[in-house]
Amino acid sequence: MELSELVNNVSPSPTRHLYNLGKQFNDTIDLTLGDPDLPPILPIKQAACKCINAGKTRYSSNAGMIELREKISVSVNRDYGVASNYENIIVTVGGMEALYLTFLSILNKDDEVLVFAPYYVNYVEMIKMCYAKPVIINTYEANDFEVSRDKLESFITSKTKAVIINNPNNPTGHVYSERFLNDLAEIVKKYDLFVITDEVYKDLVYEKKFKSIFTEISDNYVLIDSFSKKHCMTGWRIGYAVGSEYLIAAMTKLQENVAACAPVVSQYAALEALNYKSPAENLQEFRCRRDLVIKKLSPSEKLKVITPQGAFYAFVNIKNAGMKSMQFCEELLKEYHVAVAPGIAYGNMYDDYIRIAYTLSCDKLEEGVNRLLKFVSN
Ligand code: PLP
Repeated sequence: MELSELVNNVSPSPTRHLYNLGKQFNDTIDLTLGDPDLPPILPIKQAACKCINAGKTRYSSNAGMIELREKISVSVNRDYGVASNYENIIVTVGGMEALYLTFLSILNKDDEVLVFAPYYVNYVEMIKMCYAKPVIINTYEANDFEVSRDKLESFITSKTKAVIINNPNNPTGHVYSERFLNDLAEIVKKYDLFVITDEVYKDLVYEKKFKSIFTEISDNYVLIDSFSKKHCMTGWRIGYAVGSEYLIAAMTKLQENVAACAPVVSQYAALEALNYKSPAENLQEFRCRRDLVIKKLSPSEKLKVITPQGAFYAFVNIKNAGMKSMQFCEELLKEYHVAVAPGIAYGNMYDDYIRIAYTLSCDKLEEGVNRLLKFVSN
């Protein structure tokens, strides 16, 4: 059978490649995926069990249960100072489906979407899956992974439709400055662009103060969020988008034909999760893990670690190790059974980096980092 051009045009992720390769050893320390080892808190698990036992396991309406959408809107209004109601919310199969339904709702063939690199790899593939074009704006460590207003403006063409920003950022852990967000907001207004702000890590910010570009419900903005990271519910596949009624209605129309609705058991669990903030102990735990990685890697002459301000990733410069990122990751895995993600997964300019997801316990993380240090010292 001949597969579609679309399938042939979509690239598998090098991060998943390393994750899959890691499965061949039974002592692999896997630091590839952004999948924390911490469980959701007990009441969330109990809410899911209760829902199953009560037989509340049928379809919900396409946009999600109204009760859940209402509760999400209350939390969004509290956190962002906006005035949303349930009609501004669609519940989705993880933040990923919220992203994809957004792209599908706004993009036509050949439309351009500005994507800051290093980027979350699925943005680029999803945009391609809408027959649109990702326009990559490379950002660099030396400039704090941000660009100037002029530089930003230089990427705008008559085809530019949207810009996507991930704050805090995967893979760098960068939390964007107010200056950058203000510049971006001005450009968006000037060229009437659409902004997708992906804030799935917003509750995992360390010292720096988090500021969002999402300050109003309007036709120009959509906020993407998820229960995956803040409540450690990655496998529950539950997230949401917040936007104008008009956009949410469009996404709901598509949702009917894609997944029908997000899993109902997970919707009940999310309803419970909204009674709690992302646990402070989780943030504390990730801070300890981050500090461990920094402390252990800082003395190395071969590895230069950038202190993450948020999320649970460390982006590490490997230039002095004398290998490009895929070779580095494959050899590290083969020789020391540690799986990390190659920088090339996050954009062509990042072949001198690796990403370490500090999603395992301190013991395992320490062992993984020790093996990594041995690898570069050989
Ligand atoms: N956005 C970013 C930047 C991510 O890193 C991820 C997951 O790793 C997601 C969105 C999607 O998460 P989920 O679909 O589990 O909510």
